[in-house]
Amino acid sequence: MCAFGCPTGAKQHAAASWLPRAEAAGARVITGVKVRRVLVRGGRARGVRARDLTVEAPIVVVACGALLTPGLLRRSGVRSPALGRHLTIHPASAARARFDEPIDPWDGVPQSYFVDALAGDGILLEGIAGPPDQAALATPGTGPLHRERMLAVRSTASFGVMVADSATGSVREVGGRLLVRYDLHPDDAERLRRGFALLADIWWAVGAREIVVPLEGVPVLRDGDSTPLQRARVRPRDVRAMAFHPLGTARAGADPARAVVDPDLQVHGGRGLYVADGSAVPSSPQVNPQVTIMALAVRLGRTLARMAA
Ligand SMILES: Cc1cc2nc3c(=O)[nH]c(=O)nc-3n(C[C@H](O)[C@H](O)[C@H](O)COP(=O)(O)OP(=O)(O)OC[C@H]3O[C@@H](n4cnc5c(N)ncnc54)[C@H](O)[C@@H]3O)c2cc1C
Repeated sequence: MCAFGCPTGAKQHAAASWLPRAEAAGARVITGVKVRRVLVRGGRARGVRARDLTVEAPIVVVACGALLTPGLLRRSGVRSPALGRHLTIHPASAARARFDEPIDPWDGVPQSYFVDALAGDGILLEGIAGPPDQAALATPGTGPLHRERMLAVRSTASFGVMVADSATGSVREVGGRLLVRYDLHPDDAERLRRGFALLADIWWAVGAREIVVPLEGVPVLRDGDSTPLQRARVRPRDVRAMAFHPLGTARAGADPARAVVDPDLQVHGGRGLYVADGSAVPSSPQVNPQVTIMALAVRLGRTLARMAA
């Protein structure tokens, strides 16, 4: 059940790791409050305002994630040509393989394997596995076809392919609603196809009976034959793609014309205002970003602690 929480409380998420330590050091944690804007006076951050709450503070760290941080900064008066742009997402997709024997994908650690043989080309294969209800959402098809596939869920393996972005997108607010724009680059559609071709080789080698790839026009592969996948000319609109890693919309960099925050994560021209989330990551890291984001946040925390000492 690791995909959705942890039955034994073993996951070291922020509420189990950082927040108790922060509270022990005197922090007050306020949850369920949506910050509307950062208060800025005289070019300096002075706190944050929510609907029924104002917090005065000499330093504000924004960490709303790459989709929502740009809107909050913009509402707070931050102007930067890079704000809301340079969105990368690690385009991703997942294939399924059916075996004769049970796989029981919900047993064990869900992301325990990856394949980096094509990492030099920005292609990463990552194990994904979860309980049947998650599989039901991800399994293509409807009605009897979906039912038939779900009845085989015990003996169905799934694996993801993720690529480094060749394209970038943008986020902005239109009429108070978030608008995310991202067009998959044709090169990335082709790289996803290459990733699936390698995955098919691996699955055939370990005895897969049939393989379903999420590429329009590629039929279900059977009998160890990947020819339709090898020969396919895949266009962006043929890929059933997903994205889990929005990054870069308030990216870090020394040049205020090209970056929103400086290398210390302080907003260019906004004293006391920092960003510590995926939006600060300047380019597609080609690997899952959470550890990088945490490392950036810890680094900023240490910088601020040093300044306060
Ligand atoms: C299904 C899925 C699987 C993933 N798997 C992995 C993985 O295996 N490994 C990995 O490294 N990464 C994984 N990721 C990516 C990872 O979760 C994100 O990159 C990471 O959580 C981003 O961190 P963040 O701090 O930028 O933003 P978030 O984690 O999105 O945090 C932003 C927070 O700000 C809050 N917020 C937003 N606006 C406001 C506001 N106005 N006022 C107050 N609060 C606000 C939000 O509610 C949220 O809690 C996965 C993502 C998804 C969706």
